[in-house]
Order: sequence, then structure tokens, then C-alpha cells
Amino acid sequence: MTSPIAHLSNAGRLDRMFIGGEWTLPERSTRSAVVDPSTEAPVAEIALGSSADVDTAVAAARRAFADWAVTSPENRARLLDRVHALILERAELFAQAISQEMGAAIGYARSAQVPLAAEHIRVARDNLATYPFLTHRGTTAILREPIGVCGLITPWNWPLYQITAKVGAALAAGCTVVLKPSELSPLSALFFAEVVEDAGIPPGVFNLVNGDGPGVGAALSAHPDVDMISLTGSTRAGVLVTQAAAPTVKRVALELGGKSPNVILPDADLARAVAPGVAAAFRNLGQSCSAPTRMIVPRQHLHEVERLVSEAVSGMVVGDPRSEQSTHGPLANRAQFERVQEMIDVGLAEGARLVCGGPGRPQGLNQGFYVRPTVFSEVHSRMRIAQEEIFGPVLCVIPYDSIDEAVAIANDTIYGLGAHVQGEDLETARAVAARIRSGQVHINYPAWDPNAPFGGYKRSGNGREFGIEGMEEYLEMKSVLGY
Ligand code: NAD
Repeated sequence: MTSPIAHLSNAGRLDRMFIGGEWTLPERSTRSAVVDPSTEAPVAEIALGSSADVDTAVAAARRAFADWAVTSPENRARLLDRVHALILERAELFAQAISQEMGAAIGYARSAQVPLAAEHIRVARDNLATYPFLTHRGTTAILREPIGVCGLITPWNWPLYQITAKVGAALAAGCTVVLKPSELSPLSALFFAEVVEDAGIPPGVFNLVNGDGPGVGAALSAHPDVDMISLTGSTRAGVLVTQAAAPTVKRVALELGGKSPNVILPDADLARAVAPGVAAAFRNLGQSCSAPTRMIVPRQHLHEVERLVSEAVSGMVVGDPRSEQSTHGPLANRAQFERVQEMIDVGLAEGARLVCGGPGRPQGLNQGFYVRPTVFSEVHSRMRIAQEEIFGPVLCVIPYDSIDEAVAIANDTIYGLGAHVQGEDLETARAVAARIRSGQVHINYPAWDPNAPFGGYKRSGNGREFGIEGMEEYLEMKSVLGY
């Protein structure tokens, strides 16, 4: 198979944006290197656009909106079905692109990053079959109409998945979009634009402008002809996007950071509760916004939990992401690498007890953004390592003495995105889930549900993605009296 970069380079895509159905050169561009995190070597250069390209793309999306907004749900579903099929057809290309641009182990990219991304398109398509765009209350009709032109800004950690979650929902709703993916992971976005083109989505309905946050993201957020911005990213970027969007009173949906708790209740079966908790915390090498990186455990079980945690970590194979043997690759970029190393040092300085891992690189991996999966125990909730999102493989084990204290610790951060509860008695687990201020709680590690609405309480964001509620974010509601 041709490598993803050779494919894009041969097709002349690396320099281009996808606007109004054409692969166009940016009006003014700067160059940006795509760095392979496993070697730290630049492997390609892409063109980053500017506010001028945002203007062109928004105008194309506005022109396309008039027709797309009134296409039948059946037609939109048919086109989304093509998008879904093409992602699956090109799954290997996507998996390799994701592995190269952000370091995911190839096995993980194949088994999770790509198929879960395709699920968002499938769900968007399926919801169109039943969604009531028109309902009645007496003589009043209630219409759900697309909000208009949407700016979609996505991060690098789950590059394709974040794109499909937004684009699937927005297109299903009848909106047209301008996507600005992370400048650090532009490859899968370019392939996604190819899929959209080949699926026959009408020109201008989907537009891609590569660029950085301050240049393109900010211009999109402030644009007077953009009706809504949906951002997945850091809380820092969420604040900036909200400020930029405020003067035009556009809708802003934010999926931001997290520091999710995993409450192990006293009656939990530790053999079933601990190892999957470590796996969940270190999935994607901890670079997931909802990673349960605070394991909150009954003090009387602390030593047993530490033993089980160490055992689970020893089964992880950090190595070359191209190898099928690796369960985990490197972190995605240098900034992440430095941040994680810094926070491991902070944990040591704060007096948390190191159970495994620690500073530095894993043995034999001297090049690339590799880090050692690290677990701290006897962590106090007010320590920085328990408060700040680290976005890497660093797990904090925090002991508690009563369920009230466990709940208080679970809620003791500025975030409220994901949460987990483990316990044999479902009634108790449900009661604890009800007291946790997070947008999504998982009891006893259920299978992922792409229809379950996902989003944040507190500073983890506003609004919901996934499923029907994810599509509703992109709808306006109009009531017509005397219908
Ligand atoms: P980031 O905030 O640096 O960047 C995210 C996106 O926002 C990028 O496309 C970036 O270019 C853009 N951006 C940055 N500054 C901007 C600005 N001033 N105006 C407009 N756009 C701007 O985040 P990241 O490092 O790419 O991703 C990691 C963060 O994303 C973590 O905090 C993580 O928790 C969060 N995240 C959240 C979710 C979720 O669903 N809640 C999912 C994945 C990641």
C-alpha cells in the first residue's frame, strides 16, 4: 500500500484546502511540519491557511446552505451512508495516517481510532430515519431547522473520531461546515475530505481549511457569517473561542478537558475493577479527554489495588507504533512529552508515592516522544497531579475512608466530563453515579455506546455530542402557531 504521505503528496493535497468542492491553494500560506512522534523527524509539510481562506470557505458554505438545508433526511442519510462505507473501505489508510500523525499504535488505530470514528457517521445516518424534525402541540407546529454555517475545530488526540462526531451530526442536521482540524494532525482530515468528495456530498457543504488556532481557528470563531462554532480542545482554547464568538452571539458548543474519576466502591471485585481501570486510563496513552486518571479507592484496599495496578501496567508494551506488538506508541508531540515529564516531576516533588514508571524514557527508546506509564499512590486530592489534566499515562491512586469522601474527591476538580463507578451492588453504584457532577458516568465498564450523549459539566464544556442529542446541537427550534 502507498504510504499516507506519499498518497497525499502524489495527489498534491498537502498544499491545499478543500473549499466549495475544489482542492484549492490557500490565498496566503505558511508551512507547517508534520512530525512523526516516534522518530521526532519531520515527514511532510502542509500549508496552513489564513483568515482569507476562512472567508472563502464560509462563503462557499453559505452558498451551499440554501439547498442542503432543504434536502430530505433520506437524501442526507444516503450520502452519509456513502461516507461511512468509504471510511471503512479506506480504514487501513486512515489507521496508518493516524498512527503517523499522532503516534497511536497501529493495532489501536485499526481497532479503535478508525472503527469508532466510522460509528459516528453510522449513528448520524441512522438517526435521520426516525428523528422528528416536525412535531405538533395543539395547533402549534415545532420545527427543528439547521442552524446554518458551522465552524468545527478539532484536536489531534482522536483526529478522525473528533471530525466524524462533529461533521456527521452537523450534516445530518442540514448544516454546512468549515472544518479546521488540529495543525498537528492534518493527514486524516485531508483523507476525510477525499471521502466527502468521493461520496458525492454537494460542493460547499463540507469545507476544510488547515490552519493554526490563532490564525484560522480564531477567524472562524469571530466570523460574522458563521452561525455556530463547535470546538473540541483544551479549556484554554474554549475560553478564547467563546470570547471571539461573543460579539456575533453565535452558538458555541465546547468539549473541553477532563480529570475523570474512577470510584472503586468497597464492595467492588478488585480483580474486575482495577485492571480495566488502568487500561481505560492509559488508552491512547492517556491522551483522551475522558481518561479516568484518578482511581479513588477504599483505604483498606490500597495495597491490593497497588499490586493489581502494577500488574496491569507491566502488561503494557510501549514501543514503535508501527509494530503490531506495541500496545502503546509515543506521545503525540513534543509539547505533550515535556508536559508529561514535568507533571511526573511535580508528583514526586509533591510527595506522592511512585508505584511504577517515573521520569525519563522507557529503556531502549531514546528517540521519539516515549514516556513511561506512571502510577502514583497515596495521592492527595489537592495535589497538582490530581487537579490538572496531564493528558498522558499518569494515574493517580487516591485513598478514601467513606463513600461521602469518595464522592467529594470525585467532584473536587474544575472538570466534569467522564466518570466511572465500580461496585457489586448496583443500587449503591447508581446512587454514587447520581452524585457525580459529570456528563457521562460508566458503571462497571460497559461497552461503549455511540448513542450516549457525551459532554461536560463545569469547565469541561457546554453542549453534548454523539447520538440524537449530538445532532440537536446543530438545530434551531422554530414554533409556528396556527399551523
Ligand atoms: P488545543 O486546545 O490546543 O487545540 C484544539 C483545537 O483548537 C486545535 O484545532 C487548535 O488549533 C484550536 N485552537 C487553539 N487555540 C485556538 C484559538 N485561540 N481559537 C480557535 N481555535 C484554537 O487542544 P489539543 O492540545 O489539540 O487537544 C487536547 C485538549 O483537548 C485536551 O485538553 C483534551 O482534554 C481536550 N479534548 C477534549 C475532548 C472532549 O470531547 N471533551 C476530546 C478530546 C480532547
